[in-house]
Amino acid sequence: MGNGSPEKISQQVLEAVRSVVGPVGVPLHEPSFGGDEVRYLEECINSTFVSSVGPFVDRFESELGEVTGADHVVATTSGTAALQVALRLAGVEPGDEVLVPALTFVATANAVSYLGAVPHFVDCEERTLGLDPVALREHLETAVEIRDGRCVSRENGRVIRAMIPVHTFGHPAAIDDLLAVTVDFPMDIVEDATESLGSTRRGRHTGTIGRAGTLSFNGNKIITTGGGGAILTDDPDLASKARHLTTTAKVAHSWEYSHDEIGYNYRLPNINAALGCAQLEDLPDLIDRKRRLFKSYTRAFAEIAGVEVVEEPYECSSNYWLQTLRLADSFKVHKDSILSYCHAAGYGLRPAWTPLHWLDPYKDCPRADLPVAENLYRTLINIPSSAHLV
Ligand SMILES: *Cc1c(COP(=O)(O)O)cnc(C)c1O
Repeated sequence: MGNGSPEKISQQVLEAVRSVVGPVGVPLHEPSFGGDEVRYLEECINSTFVSSVGPFVDRFESELGEVTGADHVVATTSGTAALQVALRLAGVEPGDEVLVPALTFVATANAVSYLGAVPHFVDCEERTLGLDPVALREHLETAVEIRDGRCVSRENGRVIRAMIPVHTFGHPAAIDDLLAVTVDFPMDIVEDATESLGSTRRGRHTGTIGRAGTLSFNGNKIITTGGGGAILTDDPDLASKARHLTTTAKVAHSWEYSHDEIGYNYRLPNINAALGCAQLEDLPDLIDRKRRLFKSYTRAFAEIAGVEVVEEPYECSSNYWLQTLRLADSFKVHKDSILSYCHAAGYGLRPAWTPLHWLDPYKDCPRADLPVAENLYRTLINIPSSAHLV
């Protein structure tokens, strides 16, 4: 089997993308504003409650609870802030380690670092693109010992306090199998569901299976509040502590300023929540469009040897936030040609993130062998995914 020429495969990819999204170049992802955005923003401005916590924040949180099935939702200024606070409340302390997939956006690891803890990189699986439960178990069997009911690193004596499964590009990770790993290797799970609002595994919404989960409403996510995030949890105590910590740990009082610990200014402003409420009304339509876009791409790439469109994992329903091509091994040498060819034509394709253990700030972190994460970086390409393209 040959692997074609870089020109030929690049042309084929560009033609297939064009056949789906049209002859004029488009960026990788743009938000869609189709409903009540302007009306709610106006309402918010007229009320003068644009900042701090307000009625749109309460409404946004309660609607997110309905969509996800989480008992408690705490809206935050970003997905990264949500991760930081959820990890802290899951008990992550300075000097601890937290298991992080090597293939994720840098914010997952940054949230760990902000707490003075250290990311410990583990491998992903081809199928879900998320943490691999089998490789994880194998790694922990040699890398840790259990002391007083805790996972302690044999390499450096640090406690491995939690893991952060990421539901990559909207595809649910094998969360039940990861949960099973924590029976033998006790640690908390904080899910990074920042890309997977609307995605479920076996009928359960991503971000609601671990101790806590996190969402993001950054401008490029499936819905946006401009910037924003949320913590999902069924634990009422964790939720009330998250509310407290993200509002500068201010003790409730009509006029006194009293703070009982060092908190954060991480609560979502009302004006951002107003945008979020309007966006959330469109969520079913946005997911429907993204799933249709996946089908169109699948048809367009059906005849192209060496390239497939990544499909949702078994027993999962994905929001297909970012559509993804997977190159056959013999075609990965052509990744850069495909990217530069399509960029030259104005189409916003993008490789998967550089594996985090290759980045300067994270190159000395503890890690497992990471063959799959490295190979995913070499074989995956995100293609234009805006909902309005269908
Ligand atoms: C977007 C994203 C985040 C961070 O969310 P922000 O709202 O941008 O802070 C974290 N992890 C992953 C995987 C993301 O895609």
